[in-house]
Amino acid sequence: MRVVVAGGGVAGLYFTSQLLRLVPSASVYLVDPKPVHEFAIGIPIAIAGLVDFHNLLYPFERLKRITYVKATAAAVENRCIRTREGPPRLCGDYVVLAPGGLKLGSVEYWTVRGAEELLQEARRAGAIRFVVNELTPVTGFQEIAYSLKARFPEKEVSIHIVYIGDDYKFLLEPWREQASKIGIVINEEPPPPKRPGELHLSVPVLRPHPLATQLEVDPVTFETQFDRVFLIGDSSLVKLGLPPIGWGALWQASTLARALAQEATAGVFEVDAADWIAAGDRERFLRWLTYRMTAGTPLAHLKGLYDLWIGSVIRPLSGE
Ligand SMILES: Cc1cc2nc3c(=O)[nH]c(=O)nc-3n(C[C@H](O)[C@H](O)[C@H](O)COP(=O)(O)OP(=O)(O)OC[C@H]3O[C@@H](n4cnc5c(N)ncnc54)[C@H](O)[C@@H]3O)c2cc1C
Repeated sequence: MRVVVAGGGVAGLYFTSQLLRLVPSASVYLVDPKPVHEFAIGIPIAIAGLVDFHNLLYPFERLKRITYVKATAAAVENRCIRTREGPPRLCGDYVVLAPGGLKLGSVEYWTVRGAEELLQEARRAGAIRFVVNELTPVTGFQEIAYSLKARFPEKEVSIHIVYIGDDYKFLLEPWREQASKIGIVINEEPPPPKRPGELHLSVPVLRPHPLATQLEVDPVTFETQFDRVFLIGDSSLVKLGLPPIGWGALWQASTLARALAQEATAGVFEVDAADWIAAGDRERFLRWLTYRMTAGTPLAHLKGLYDLWIGSVIRPLSGE
């Protein structure tokens, strides 16, 4: 069984680790233009000082159980991808696209380098204000606000939700109470006029990745209109009308890995329909999807998630 995975972020690596656990003989070719995996979900704990930023980066070359191909997937056809600067065509029995979402904006808090720069700016600022004015903003701003307040309790930290999609309201709601307990102000008003020494951050928008714009996604199997080509992760979730969160990426990655493993071992491709499709209860599904992300104290949860990621995904893929 040969699988080409485009994108080694949360969705791509989790899919790969689950597939290799179920089908140890599978050959996985992981295509990513960056030489390192970045664990975006861990950025808030690095900002809070619970881990070093460099601990969130892991070189793909050290993942001994896969073949890393340093290239940008540029197009998809049949069971192959075309790459921009690597081998012209990479084909497999299956192609799994997991390129994340396209993020547009002036503040880059989803990369380790961008988050380190943001921390430096925040050190110098007296107040830090996040301004949300997008239907589908890049998630993570609320965890970053939380980390900054935890690290610099003396600074004013506020979130101004001028405009946002309903699913994000849903996501933010259970989190509000925790945030206000540590002194973060959240309101639906534009921020006050910027005073000297304040940092105002316009939260970027997330759109489907260019590789995914023309793709259709089946809500049960995540298969695209191309036979045995699948789309998972942030772009897939947005296309399915779900919020682009890591928990959703993990759900899709494990569902798909189980289905492909079953086809490889028993010759049957079968996917358990998720609740929202089976019962038509989208609200309940969203609640399930977002519960672990939003309930409780985010930083403590995220540190636990980071330890799990290293122990259950990175180490096994490294052959340790
Ligand atoms: C600061 C922050 C905190 C967050 N906290 C949480 C949280 O607490 N809980 C939660 O559930 N979610 C959280 N999220 C959201 C979560 O990180 C994302 O939903 C998740 O990373 C999406 O996974 P992904 O694999 O789709 O994309 P990514 O993790 O962004 O990975 C995409 C990968 O694809 C590669 N790539 C891009 N283009 C190409 C191409 N053309 N060819 C090949 N490879 C390509 C990229 O280099 C990258 O390695 C947070 C996000 C941020 C920014």
